[in-house]
Amino acid sequence: MSNYHAIKRETCRICGGSDLVRYLSLGEQPPSNAFIAASETAAEQRFPLDVYHCATCGLSQLLDVVAAEDIFDDYVYLSSTSRALCNHYQGMIDSIIALLQPPPDSLVIDVGCNDGITLNCYPKSTYRTLGVEPSSAGQYARERGFEIVERFFNEQCGRDIAASHGPAKIVTATNVFAHVDDIAGFAAGVRNVLDDDGVFVIEFPYLVDMIEELYFDTIYHEHLSYLSLAPLEHLFADVGLRAFRVERAEVGASGPALRLFVCRAEAGYETHQSISDMQAAEEAWGVGQIDAYERFAERVRETGDALVELMRGLKTNGAKIAAYGAPAKGNTLLNFIQADTSLIDVVAENNDLKIGKVTPGTHIPIVSDDEFLAGGYTHALLLAWNYLDFFLDKSPFIKDGGKFIVPVPTPVIRP
Ligand SMILES: [Zn+2]
Repeated sequence: MSNYHAIKRETCRICGGSDLVRYLSLGEQPPSNAFIAASETAAEQRFPLDVYHCATCGLSQLLDVVAAEDIFDDYVYLSSTSRALCNHYQGMIDSIIALLQPPPDSLVIDVGCNDGITLNCYPKSTYRTLGVEPSSAGQYARERGFEIVERFFNEQCGRDIAASHGPAKIVTATNVFAHVDDIAGFAAGVRNVLDDDGVFVIEFPYLVDMIEELYFDTIYHEHLSYLSLAPLEHLFADVGLRAFRVERAEVGASGPALRLFVCRAEAGYETHQSISDMQAAEEAWGVGQIDAYERFAERVRETGDALVELMRGLKTNGAKIAAYGAPAKGNTLLNFIQADTSLIDVVAENNDLKIGKVTPGTHIPIVSDDEFLAGGYTHALLLAWNYLDFFLDKSPFIKDGGKFIVPVPTPVIRP
C-alpha cells in the first residue's frame, strides 16, 4: 500500500494567480485508483477533493495535489485492453499524418504513452517513435519494441530529448495533460522538443461537457485540471506556443473530448476558424465567470441526494443492490454519496488486479463478474455508465432480468 504525499497549492497552475474560488467540494477521498486489501483500510489516507476556479485565467483545478509518483506507482490500467481506445487512437494518428504529412524518419513522440497504444498506430518502420512514460505501464510498451523514456515530461525532459533525438514533428499527449501538476513546465518541454513546423496534439475531456452533462465523477485526484480553451491559450502563449485548430473527438465510450492542435507561436500554421468559434462559445457560456460553476455544484449535490434516495427506496422494496464496474470515477461517486455495504453489497469487476480488494474510501468488496452473477442481485449501480449501451446489449446480468441504476446526469433505472 502506498504512502501518499500531498501538497496544497496556493496559486493557479497555469497563470500563477491567487484569486481562486472553491466551487465544489466532493469531500475527503482517497486517490480513486487506490484499491486496497480489506486489512489495509485503517491506514487509508484521504485528501480533500475540492475544485477551484481561477478568476484570472479561468482554469478549473484541484489545489490538493497528491504526488504523481505515488499515484502512478499504483497505476494498473493498460490502455490497449480497450479495443475502442485502440480504434480511436488509430483514427487520431491517421488524421494527424494526413494533415501534416511528416517526412519518413521523422521523430514522433507520445507523452504518457502507457503500453504503447498510440505509438502502435504509426505505420511500422516509417517514423522514429519515442514514448515517455513514468509509470510501470511503460514496460509493456518496451516489450512491444518501443523506445521509452521513463520520466515525467517537463521542461528539462523536452530539452534532453531534443538533444539526444533531435526535434519532433509530432508530439501527442492524450488524457495526460489534465493529470500534470506542473503544466507550465510540460508546455515549456513541448516547446523545447518541437520542430519549427512540428505539431503538438492533445486530447482531453472538455470542461464545458463535464459541467453541462454533469460528469462530476470524472473529478478525482489524478485529474488535476478541467480544461477549456481559454486558460490553455494563456498557458501556450506564456511558453511561445499557439493553439491553431480544435476538433471534437468522440473517444468511444470514454466520452466526448477536445483535440487541440498546437504549434510554435511563429510557425506557419494559420489559426483555424474553429479556434475563434470556440473562443466565442466559451465567452458566451461564461467560462471566466463563477456562475456556471456554482450552478453545476448545486446540481451535483441534488443528483447525489436523488441517487441515495432512489437506492434506499429500492432496498425498502426488497431490492438487492450491487455496483457494476470499478473504474476510478466510480470511487468519486461512491465516496461522494458515502456509500457502504448497507447500500451496495459488492462491486462486480473483470480486472483481476482489483478483484479481491475493496473500493477506496467506501470499502465495498470487489468480486468477479461470475460471483456477482451468482449473487441474486436485482439492481446494479452502473459506475461505468459510459458503457451503458454496451452493457444493456451484452451483459448477462441484463439478459437475466437485472436492472441498472444509471447515476448521471439524473439517476434512472434501465432497462
Ligand atoms: Zn489561472
